[in-house]
Amino acid sequence: MIIASTPAQLQEALKLLHGDIGLVMTMGALHDGHLSLVEAARKESDHVVVSIYVNPLQFGPGEDFDAYPRDLEADVAKLEGVDVVFAPTDDVMYPRTPLVRIDPGPVASVLEGKTRPTHFAGVLQVVHKVFNIVGPHAAWFGQKDAQQLALIRSMVADLNMPLDIRAVPIKREPSGLAMSSRNSYLSEREKEQALALFRALTVGQRVAHDGGSAAQTLAAARESLAHAPGVKMDYLELVDRDTFMPLTEAGNGLLVCAAWVGPTRLIDNLEVVIG
Ligand code: AMP
Repeated sequence: MIIASTPAQLQEALKLLHGDIGLVMTMGALHDGHLSLVEAARKESDHVVVSIYVNPLQFGPGEDFDAYPRDLEADVAKLEGVDVVFAPTDDVMYPRTPLVRIDPGPVASVLEGKTRPTHFAGVLQVVHKVFNIVGPHAAWFGQKDAQQLALIRSMVADLNMPLDIRAVPIKREPSGLAMSSRNSYLSEREKEQALALFRALTVGQRVAHDGGSAAQTLAAARESLAHAPGVKMDYLELVDRDTFMPLTEAGNGLLVCAAWVGPTRLIDNLEVVIG
């Protein structure tokens, strides 16, 4: 495996490889969720590049940019079968404050974007850059970050970017807790409390499955989360899977939520069919 820390080093490494390149972008602190993306990329690519970069542009003031777990050596040890790891520094990625920015459009200001107003502009900026640096035939993203995935799909479609975007289902702990690098912030007690997110989503899913309306589904899920001890709901909404606009009638929906467990902000989502 080659570890490249600049675009030039990465491109040197890619010259030695023949065939198509699959890309998985991460911020490190790798867990089995990330590795399921790598596995999926390996199945459909001749070679795989994994980027590991904690992108400052996608963190707002007062967020956990400084505290975010970083351990490149431990991450690299987990990346079996990966050809190249791209792990740049901030001065390599942003030698100057970028003058040209990606405008993520209206979907970036709802849900996650309401609480984190500059987040998705920062995400799309780095995703666009890494796509250009690596030139993959396809890139794999987790359904865990459903709104991010939808925005990346929109960027690729609207800007005619020459690659496919593939989605990978959420990998969960046996308890149901969605795997996340931020789970490392949680105490054992908080991990228990954090189960409330998935529980609330499954309550909603059950109501929808039993024939409940959009309003009933949403109300049941919110009721469940609102009463969970140690958990402060940021949002819990029922949205259309593609547009991320509120789903108020029959259709393919996504229950999406964010909540603080102690000082840690977690997100989760679950598909529901209202019908
Ligand atoms: P991150 O390192 O948090 O930026 O995540 C990098 C990629 O891994 C994103 O595409 C995430 O959606 C994906 N990912 C993170 N957690 C999970 C999970 N539990 N299951 C599946 N994919 C995940």
